[in-house]
Amino acid sequence: MTAANLLFRALQSHSFSVNPVDGVEIEDYGKLAPNAVHHLFSHRKNILASVALEHIERVFKERKRQVHAVRDLCLHVNDGELLTLVGPSGCGKTTTLRVIAGLDEPSAGTIRIEDRVVNRVLPKDRDVAMVFQNYALYPHMTVYQNIAFPLRMRKLPKVEIQRRVSETADRMGLALLLDRKPAALSGGEKQRTAVARAIVRSPKVFLLDEPLSNLDAPLRVELRSEIKRLQRSLKTTTVYVTHDQEEAMTLGDRIAVMREGVLQQCGSPLEVYNRPANRFVAGFIGTPAMNLIAGTIVEAGDAGEFQFGKRRLPISKPTNGIRMPVGPAVFGIRPQNVRFQTTENSRQDRGLIDVGEGIVRLVETTGDATNVRINLDDREIIARTTPSCELRENDRIQVAFDTTHVHFFRADESGERVS
Ligand code: ADP
Ligand code: MG
Repeated sequence: MTAANLLFRALQSHSFSVNPVDGVEIEDYGKLAPNAVHHLFSHRKNILASVALEHIERVFKERKRQVHAVRDLCLHVNDGELLTLVGPSGCGKTTTLRVIAGLDEPSAGTIRIEDRVVNRVLPKDRDVAMVFQNYALYPHMTVYQNIAFPLRMRKLPKVEIQRRVSETADRMGLALLLDRKPAALSGGEKQRTAVARAIVRSPKVFLLDEPLSNLDAPLRVELRSEIKRLQRSLKTTTVYVTHDQEEAMTLGDRIAVMREGVLQQCGSPLEVYNRPANRFVAGFIGTPAMNLIAGTIVEAGDAGEFQFGKRRLPISKPTNGIRMPVGPAVFGIRPQNVRFQTTENSRQDRGLIDVGEGIVRLVETTGDATNVRINLDDREIIARTTPSCELRENDRIQVAFDTTHVHFFRADESGERVS
């Protein structure tokens, strides 16, 4: 069986033991003209590349049904930017990355790298490097050989390969491990090797698919910072996929939130956090999740009121010229903006609105904060407060919301933001 056939089978079965972005090169590397090789690898400085996805669709046809993995996706990754793509499992993140890499073909739409349409360009000619969740190292090769592999494929002179591998290994803290094989590496070392192999040839675009999800929590946090620092110094345009919203927030210059194949919102971490575009994003970004309370907006004098159950919250006059539409709506407030009213702060703090009495159901402390689950009639909300909080289960407390941080969403399926 030829290498190309083997590779094809590996790609189909999704259980590659080789890195497909390198692997696809096996077929064709001999055909590259020597000067083209030099052009590809002359050490790029400040050559950046943007990635544009225009109306990308990807439909998988299975025996009886169709899976619409990506729907009308339009996304622009700027030169030198680190964009995180985040969403629950199965929302189309990997498919999107594979489409950018050329490992998968979109059913419709255009992909541009550096303004060049690359739909028909082979993965090896797109000049992208991809890192996978499962490391995808070559098990029979040492760390050195793994890192050197993409350079050998492109027939770089041996001295140049040595120089690049040693520089990259230093950078990734692998200098003392160059003779080991993957089986003798820890998870973190394997993933460092995978990252080293991806950056060693200075690709235009760097794609990472949940690279840290196989690692334990402390290592994940450490490697996350390393990747961010690395990206800052290389300034390589990067798309980083994760299902972990905290990882997406801390890493990304911008984050793109996907759900069921549809892009929900794209913006800086703070934009997305402070002004979630819809109920899904509101609930997905931030821990504990934003409290979302269904109710009705009614007119009351020249302002309005939000009613839920027997409770009524005054709504201030229209902000930014947007007037709340009267009717069913969902009110959103983050746990840290839920307060307990005491006699001291009650009348002084004008940002607070009274919600009335609640009953403490559960008190959970994380050390740096305490989450309090409170029943408001038949609804449960979460408040995040200081670790010194002395509340006990079944305590009756006066609840207040900090009105400077409230959100309103449509009650219909769109769940769009209305304020
Ligand atoms: P994510 O990476 O966000 O978890 P994926 O992009 O892997 O999601 O998958 C998106 C959807 O497409 C899922 O429903 C998945 O089952 C489906 N899918 C992915 N690859 C294939 C395939 N080769 N054949 C059929 N369905 C697929
Ligand atoms: Mg995935």
